[in-house]
Parts: sequence; C-alpha cells; structure tokens
Amino acid sequence: MRIQRVLANNPGPFTGPGTNTWLVDDGGEYVVIDPGPVDDLHRDRIVAQATGLIPVGVLVTHTHIDHAPLANPLARELGVPAYGYAPGPDFDPDLRIGEGSVVDIGQTRLAVIHTPGHADDHLCFRLADVLFTGDHIMGGSSVMVEDMGSYLASLEKLRGTGLSRLNPGHGEDMDHPDQVIDWYLEHRRQRHEEILDAIRGGAASIDEIVEVVYRDVDPALHPLAARSVDAHLVLLFEEGRIASSGHELVALPTNPT
Ligand SMILES: [Zn+2]
Repeated sequence: MRIQRVLANNPGPFTGPGTNTWLVDDGGEYVVIDPGPVDDLHRDRIVAQATGLIPVGVLVTHTHIDHAPLANPLARELGVPAYGYAPGPDFDPDLRIGEGSVVDIGQTRLAVIHTPGHADDHLCFRLADVLFTGDHIMGGSSVMVEDMGSYLASLEKLRGTGLSRLNPGHGEDMDHPDQVIDWYLEHRRQRHEEILDAIRGGAASIDEIVEVVYRDVDPALHPLAARSVDAHLVLLFEEGRIASSGHELVALPTNPT
C-alpha cells in the first residue's frame, strides 16, 4: 500500500498551507480522500499522480467547502462512487458511510470512524495504523469546533487504539498520535477553564470572551474562535457551570465537594 499527498492551492487563515488531498493505493487500485475545492489544476494533479492505477472511490471526511466540492465531479469523471456521511452544501454522496463501514482498495481496506465535533458529518479513515484525520486533528493549527462534547468524545475514542501516524486535512503528518490527542484534549480543557474564568471576570458575551481568551490570536481568526467559544459555552451550560441572566452570561458557584 502507498499513500501520496497532493496539496490543493487554497492556502489561508482557515486552511493553513491548503487542503491535503490523500491518495491511497494497493499498487493496483486507489481512492482519493478529500479532493478539495473545484480547481482544474488540482484535479489534473490528482489524476496524474494516480497514472496507471484503477480508481475505486472518492471519499470525503466532511462536507466543508475546502474538502468536498470536487468530490462529485471527480467521482463522475472517474466513473466511481463518491462516499461520505451525509449530503452537504456542495456534496451529495453516492454511497453513505459511517461508523464501522469499510471501503476496499484492492487488497487493502479503509475502516470508517465517525468523529463528530468539528462537524456533525465528520469521518476519519483508518488504514492499518495510519489515520486520515480530516479536520478532526490538524497539523500545526487549532481546530474550529461546532460541538465540544462530541468533539472531546471523538478524540477520546481514538486514544490508545494503536495508531502510529496521523495524516491531517491540513498541515504535516504527525507521529505519536496519542501524544497529539492528549495535547488536543489538554488544549481544549485549558480553553474551557479560561472561558469560565473570563465569565467570572465579567465577560458577558461571546465577543467579550473572545477578546479576553484569544487576545494573542490573529483578529482575522476571531470569528472562528467565536464558534469554538460558543461550543464551549454549550458544554459549560450542560455541565451546570454557567447560566444566562437576560442577555448576559454568568458563572455559577461550583458545588462544594
Ligand atoms: Zn478543512
């Protein structure tokens, strides 16, 4: 089996160096993971990289615009199914896959793991001890999270499962997956407490929390940070640690233990 990466030409504050499109082959057949945005040059590079191989599928980790829009046109052109968890704005799967699904590539096999959190429809793909992580875990940047409870559970789910490498949707490959996952969990727990501290300190809205907690972060990323803060707030509500009074957020006293 062989893994190749083709970097899409869509660098930016949300995509790092651009989207990583992954090609996995067994020497005879191949699949494409996350073909990215519609871009003829990128499409040509993907197809050129797979010269001599037989396509069997185009997969998406999730339906965000930097991952999925090229999937349907490319799959049609290659005459193979597009695989994904559910339809999205620019994507409609021919075959829906989810937790426990498998995709065969000749003699080798990808296992599908549902990892909601960054997005409800997010999947990771496992090939032996390698995991294609999409935007669940990124190389070198923090992930925007829609649902914090699910996100943390989806990280825990991957811990200690014998992985040796992570191939993300953006940035470089990562060794020592359990260490990376621990760092992500720790980072989120820290943010969780920082957000609670900001509320205790008088920040009463998402914008005010972002100002405090993300003061060292590029303001261009603040709208993204606001979504993650929102996801943390939902979890803090669920945990009974905050409440809202009128339009203002208030921290609740912790129960004596
Ligand atoms: Zn992405």
